[in-house]
Amino acid sequence: MTHTELPMSKVNLMGLSLLELEELVEGWGEPKFRAKQLMSWLYHHCETDFQMMTNLPKSFRRKLSDAACISDIRVCARAVSDKDSAVKYLFELNDGSRIESVLMPDRNRITVCVSSQVGCAMACDFCATGKMGFFRNLSSAEIVDQVIAIQRELEGGKNVTHVVFMGMGEPLANYDQTLNAVRLMTCVEGLALPERRITVSTVGLAPRMRQFAREGLKCQLALSLNATTDKVRTRLMPINTRYPIADVLDAAREWTLASGNSVTLEYVLIRDVNDGVEDAHRICKLMSRLRCKLNIIPFNEIEDCEFRRPETNRIEQFRRIVSKKCYVAPIRFSKGKDITAACGQLRTVYGNQGITLRKASQYGNTQTATFYPAGV
Ligand code: SAH
Repeated sequence: MTHTELPMSKVNLMGLSLLELEELVEGWGEPKFRAKQLMSWLYHHCETDFQMMTNLPKSFRRKLSDAACISDIRVCARAVSDKDSAVKYLFELNDGSRIESVLMPDRNRITVCVSSQVGCAMACDFCATGKMGFFRNLSSAEIVDQVIAIQRELEGGKNVTHVVFMGMGEPLANYDQTLNAVRLMTCVEGLALPERRITVSTVGLAPRMRQFAREGLKCQLALSLNATTDKVRTRLMPINTRYPIADVLDAAREWTLASGNSVTLEYVLIRDVNDGVEDAHRICKLMSRLRCKLNIIPFNEIEDCEFRRPETNRIEQFRRIVSKKCYVAPIRFSKGKDITAACGQLRTVYGNQGITLRKASQYGNTQTATFYPAGV
């Protein structure tokens, strides 16, 4: 069996909820509390070898080896940013698909940006993942595995503190698995992260946002707005023809009412497309009807895309106008830009020789990345 194959006959324990795990161990004639012990090994100790689970009876460990397995996504490559401390990971899944995740350490805050799908079907014109097309949804195990695999690499007993669903894919288009993953990340038996430290970012699937609002979660929701008129938003994001600005903002308002949290509007600033003075005034008007803050993300340039990043003074002008009236988060000059790990730059490359994590220069980016093959 190669590393990437999971035995078909064995049940994968990763990704199961406590309830599902309890049913499973009881079905094997074991007491219910074994489920909690198992979860602690999986999510607190990040252990994948049953023989190392020393507080389980030997007979049960044997049973587990025969009947169960723990999926474990494989790090194919990692690229370390020269400019900041971001690390981009290329993972291989059990079926050979590849996805990317990004580790963004910042003093005491250790954020992992996870993918929710292999590729993306939303086809946003300014996003590298959108240009890849859609391959498949990730399972909740594969989503949580990204955090665990990165957690395992942290030195000095450090823990991942925040998770953002801003990697490849549209999390709300993979609704059930995203929800299960959020629950596993936040439950005490799982990764035990406070809900407010998880951010789900959406292109604006209004019905799914409304459904998400009813789940009773206290996590953060980010909405990629990116334009102030439907004409421009449709040009950038084809999904806008289905769910136009008024609809997504209404769904965002439902989220704020249900969760008690504000919503974060993300606004990718693109030169001469959505960075004008009128846009800045219009966004203030849209924001005035909603409990929200604005994240201005200067466009990260990508291959096969004519859009450009605005000049710094233009970015500053936009921020100044909006921040006079509304809450604007400090401008996020995305981390990991030199390793194409910044917002919207994640794209795996499919070819005959398989997929490799390419150096930034191959993406048409002039900066270079320190590149480490897996295992280094
Ligand atoms: N599908 C989700 C999450 C993935 S994209 C969503 O749309 O929110 C995460 C964020 O990166 C979004 O806010 C998106 O607008 C932004 N983004 C995409 N491409 C970008 C680029 N080239 N430069 C800067 N930000 C980008």
